[in-house]
Amino acid sequence: MPVLNGRPAGEALTAPLPGSIAGRWADDLPRRDASAANPERSLKKARPGIFQTCANPGCASGWLHLWRSRATPVLEGGWSCSAACTAARVAAAVRRELDARGSAEQNHRHRVPLGLLMMEQGWITSGQLRQALGEQKGAGAGRLGQWLVRRQGVSEQLVTRALGLQWSCPVLPLEFYDPEALSALVPRLFVDAFGALPLRVAAGKLLYLGFEERLDPVLALAIERMTGLRVESGLVPGSQFRLAHARMLSARFPRIELIEAGSEPAAVHALSKAIERVQPAESRLVRAHECLWLRMWPRPQVGPLPETASVEDLICSIGTL
Ligand SMILES: [Zn+2]
Repeated sequence: MPVLNGRPAGEALTAPLPGSIAGRWADDLPRRDASAANPERSLKKARPGIFQTCANPGCASGWLHLWRSRATPVLEGGWSCSAACTAARVAAAVRRELDARGSAEQNHRHRVPLGLLMMEQGWITSGQLRQALGEQKGAGAGRLGQWLVRRQGVSEQLVTRALGLQWSCPVLPLEFYDPEALSALVPRLFVDAFGALPLRVAAGKLLYLGFEERLDPVLALAIERMTGLRVESGLVPGSQFRLAHARMLSARFPRIELIEAGSEPAAVHALSKAIERVQPAESRLVRAHECLWLRMWPRPQVGPLPETASVEDLICSIGTL
């Protein structure tokens, strides 16, 4: 049985075979009931289309691929029949992500300066603002809000409220914060480098994403596209944020591989190679700032959150990005 070529028999149940052949072989296969006891396997088996066609529009293998023993890998819902087809699909996804650069970033709105906004609200005096600005200038560091809190006795809550007005976003509470439960949503690198903090998932659909001083709409969009959850960004008061951030960074995160590619073709090669190695049941590619983020699910995800141990991330930066 050449199509079973080295794969475990149970895996072959998911192979994209013509109906009649699949039915006949399924009868011959041992452990065919394994899927009943394993909901994940059933899910995988239930992927639509017995006549699975290769998702690469330029696929040259025609009907040949139906005889190949692959049910994976899957990229963005589409199965590819060969390493060449995987590479073609990855190349298209990488191009799409790079072409979209700038569209989210350009969406800047003019923001009222924080000090002015707080003064208008009557939360600080012009004297406090002048002094804080002077100290910030003298030190050549620190944000205005920090100077207002440190030296002018302004409450941190008030500064966060003002930042919330500035960004037109809510101030998020930290109740029910459970870093271990949420660390699978975002690579540790993003929590660390971009200061994004997954705070809570509500109703299995909505992810509250906390930031300390400024939102990051580009990253929020990337996380939304990757997780399928609607992301609501908000601010968390500085001292609370820093504690929660430290707790999150010590949580367990999915396995990650970091790659620096010298060019776009090199990135495509590295990403395709990873997909061919892991043979994921699903994978997605999004861009977050200067990084391409590939996430692979070796098994289909059950529920709104991935399991930390069951997803693999690859973050690829391209030299020319
Ligand atoms: Zn193909």
